[in-house]
Amino acid sequence: MGDRAIPKIAVWKFASCDGCQLSLLDCEDELLAVAEAVEIAYFPEVTRTVVEGPYDVSLIEGSVTTPHDAVRITEIRKNSKLLITIGACATAGGIQALRNFADVSEFVSAVYAHPDYIDTLAMSTPIANHVTVDFELRGCPINKHQLVDVLSAFVNGRKPNVSSSSVCMECKRNGAVCVMVAHGTPCLGPVTHAGCNALCPSYNRGCFGCYGPKETPNASSIARWWNTELHVPHAELARTFRGFNAYAKAFRNESGLHVDATD
Ligand code: SF4
Ligand code: SF4
Repeated sequence: MGDRAIPKIAVWKFASCDGCQLSLLDCEDELLAVAEAVEIAYFPEVTRTVVEGPYDVSLIEGSVTTPHDAVRITEIRKNSKLLITIGACATAGGIQALRNFADVSEFVSAVYAHPDYIDTLAMSTPIANHVTVDFELRGCPINKHQLVDVLSAFVNGRKPNVSSSSVCMECKRNGAVCVMVAHGTPCLGPVTHAGCNALCPSYNRGCFGCYGPKETPNASSIARWWNTELHVPHAELARTFRGFNAYAKAFRNESGLHVDATD
């Protein structure tokens, strides 16, 4: 921040499970330093204290799923110098975006005794579909070390050290054995955004894409390889790309190619 005043940070929740906000609270070792460097002006999960905006940085968790959400995010944007989205819900619509491939009124009728009380949008959409976003931090949930780095970057006026490469790069850096090459285990690592330090492959499991698509992913290539070399059927491929980041463009497009395909 240019004037070196203590930046005011606000943390806002939209449709989400709160896991990304908990990642911030989970920074036991760093939280005191963060609390000294910034003023937590609005963070209902932590404190009832509310400091009025405008805010220097707003962190947004969750997707837009109601008409009220759509109005609220516009107001928050107007009241924030920088707006950073955190997690799969805010950056890609979240698991709740599975409704985007179906008829939400059918879900509402099946789940609620009085569907007429429910005021919801037909789709769950990422924050960037509604307002300008200054930085998107991916993950389900986000990596707390990346969150601290992003906050520190914006507070100190530098670029965040968040790589846009794939989970495979983290595997290679860690010297981990590739589960797909060594064991034929399907792994979405080649098309998934880095950030988890290759958590699943380090436990001998394939990646299921919780960090969403990397920059310029070749989803069609890996889907073709899974299908022809690992004999993963199209229905399974469609399900694979319809996870926490189902509505992220690359995964959305790829799942659409397999949903009605026959094996
Ligand atoms: S295990 Fe997965 S993430 Fe790791 S190198 Fe192999 S394909 Fe890539
Ligand atoms: S699913 Fe993939 S991106 Fe998510 S923690 Fe596992 S390896 Fe990382």
